[in-house]
Amino acid sequence: MSLLVIPIFIAHQGCPHLCIFCDQHTITGHSVLEDGPVSPATVKETIDQWLEHPRKKQRNDVQVAFYGGSFTGLPMERQKDLLDAVKSYIDNGQVNSIRISTRPDYIDENIVAFLQEHSVSIVELGIQSLDLSVLEASARGHSVEQSESAIHLLKAKGFTVGAQLMCGLPQDSTSKLLATTKRVAVLAPDFVRIYPALVIKGSGLEKLYRDGSYAPLSLLKAVALTCRMKNIFAEHHIKVVRMGLQPSQELEKKVVAGPYHPAFGELVIARALFKQARKLLGVTVHNRQRRLSLAAADESAFRGPGNVSMKRLAGLGLLDGVELVFDKDQARNSVMVY
Ligand code: SF4
Repeated sequence: MSLLVIPIFIAHQGCPHLCIFCDQHTITGHSVLEDGPVSPATVKETIDQWLEHPRKKQRNDVQVAFYGGSFTGLPMERQKDLLDAVKSYIDNGQVNSIRISTRPDYIDENIVAFLQEHSVSIVELGIQSLDLSVLEASARGHSVEQSESAIHLLKAKGFTVGAQLMCGLPQDSTSKLLATTKRVAVLAPDFVRIYPALVIKGSGLEKLYRDGSYAPLSLLKAVALTCRMKNIFAEHHIKVVRMGLQPSQELEKKVVAGPYHPAFGELVIARALFKQARKLLGVTVHNRQRRLSLAAADESAFRGPGNVSMKRLAGLGLLDGVELVFDKDQARNSVMVY
């Protein structure tokens, strides 16, 4: 099944919080102040437009995703209106699933029952960290236990659960971040998104950055940490579906500092592939012809800008007698030496 995601942006609606890193208007690229709150009519128009899109013809699994804000923090009537706008498409089979994102403390038995009644099957939770000092320094306003019980409850009720995590938050450290990652992996969400913290104009983090009390991660460090997180999730067979915020001109204008890169995820994949290749080439026999094989779809990520990975492997003396192969049948993110 190939998936078509129909995005509906409800930027900042329903969220009375102001997490230190967040200026939701910028992060989604859609301002509720400029666009006005999304109406059920807009939801239907958006779905109709996407269903007419030529891309629809190649996709047989269609998902409506309410992005941004905290969906289950909206007034109940409004949640109902928005979900009801999707109902007829679910009923006639044009849409297969509904995804929302929300905060862990906005999930309880009643909310879960309401979401089930309204055909929501995927819930993404803004977990960010499972370290209390990091949550407090980031003004998240919820506890570690609330995150854990939200994941447990949603999984027990059969939802597909996504967890959003961040690296580089105030008061975080490598050991706290890896502890969070391992703890989340044990909770076994179905998928994860990892976002390095950026200093966004107008966010609380900007104030801390400008008065010198917060230093963002360098790009190199953010890539290295995200790579370690990704590897931990891979060991637990948990898919990391996104690394780094979706690039947009709007976002680029608002990034004051921090590890922003429009292809952040590619940088992480390049690092992971390079490290696997270095390890395998280092332990296999050097005095005979060998093949280093990667998925054809990973070629540009592996080579990196200016073929940097190959140059680094050559610089380490690991490419003598090695033929490089990009195999269209090989699984992505895998490296083989034979
Ligand atoms: S809960 Fe989500 S939407 Fe609300 S301020 Fe925090 S990050 Fe932004």
